[in-house]
Amino acid sequence: MFQQAPVLLLVDDSNVNLEILKDILKRYPLLTATNGKEALLLATAEPKPDLILLDVVMPGMDGFETCRKLKERAVTRNIPVIFITGQNDSDHILKGFEVGAVDYITKPFNIPELKARVKTQLTIKMARDQNLRLLQKIELVNKQLTDSIRYAQKIQNASLPKQTYLDQVMPEYFVLLKPRDIVSGDFYWVGEVDSRLLVVAADSTGHGVPGAFMSMFGVAYLNQIVGYQSVSIPSQILDRLRSIVIDSFQQTESSEVKDGMDIGVLSIDRTRKEIEFAGAFNPLYIIRNNELTIVSADHMPVSIGEVDRPYHNHIIPYQKGDALYLFTDGYASQFGGPDDKKIKSTGFRQLLIEHHHLPMCEQKTIYDQFFEEWKGNGEQVDDVLLIGIRL
Ligand SMILES: [Mg+2]
Repeated sequence: MFQQAPVLLLVDDSNVNLEILKDILKRYPLLTATNGKEALLLATAEPKPDLILLDVVMPGMDGFETCRKLKERAVTRNIPVIFITGQNDSDHILKGFEVGAVDYITKPFNIPELKARVKTQLTIKMARDQNLRLLQKIELVNKQLTDSIRYAQKIQNASLPKQTYLDQVMPEYFVLLKPRDIVSGDFYWVGEVDSRLLVVAADSTGHGVPGAFMSMFGVAYLNQIVGYQSVSIPSQILDRLRSIVIDSFQQTESSEVKDGMDIGVLSIDRTRKEIEFAGAFNPLYIIRNNELTIVSADHMPVSIGEVDRPYHNHIIPYQKGDALYLFTDGYASQFGGPDDKKIKSTGFRQLLIEHHHLPMCEQKTIYDQFFEEWKGNGEQVDDVLLIGIRL
């Protein structure tokens, strides 16, 4: 529906023709012009016409020229134009379509046909206007949502460790976090208990806003478990985290909500020169002398699951120069490359082995660029988190 009755602009240098048209189309609000110049003025003024009936042969600016000018201007471009012509040879008609007309009516007028053609064009215009209004509405809602998520991103960033703190406590390191939808389900956490440095890389169920909410819980729980309760053994951290998640979300075997997180917890003890690691689905990679060792994770999520054993705690002595990598599944899951395939764990491991000897900050740039090139114009499929540490 038009929001108001559709307005027609009739343009003809012959007053007789104008009077005939006015009589045939008297049910519509009408504007009239007797030349091209006047028509252009009326087309830009209010009320703007919804349809223009335009005579071809007029002194001065003819109908073709007038139509061309209407189509050049953004404000009048979308007003449909029907030509009124006495010459119904096809060259003439084609020229009319070329300059942007949607239809033509021949003189002398066939009244029912003229009315039908006008009605058809008004119906099309009405549908197009409605689409345009819907599109504008969608764009507005989309903008409001995006603004809101961008603001949420600031809040989420505040929950992550500050770079100044990381620079102070971490060995040589990098963190590559690439959220899929502005905010992220992947998050990292760093803390200290006595001589141990704890580094956590986690992937909350889902991504976007639900993932980000879950990540905020994850950060709060880790603060509680490690920060206040001083638990520093990775497997014990995961045991506690799992029971808090199950309690908080009241998860049971039959409950629908089984959200939680996949996570790797690393503890570095620099006085004892050893690392400890426990993982829920996410393993740890250690590269020493070009050889990559996988420290495996338990196949138990940090949420209600089929098995409920304690997590396995790995204790590994380390050597100076070892490169450690904590990560989520997003990097290896990315589609792209020459055959639009996933990078996969093998490709990911190959990439790390090739570059592990480089300074950590250089590695970050390389892994980021490789990921972007692999993805190309495709969509990022998941949040991506990769942490590199040189001992
Ligand atoms: Mg993931």
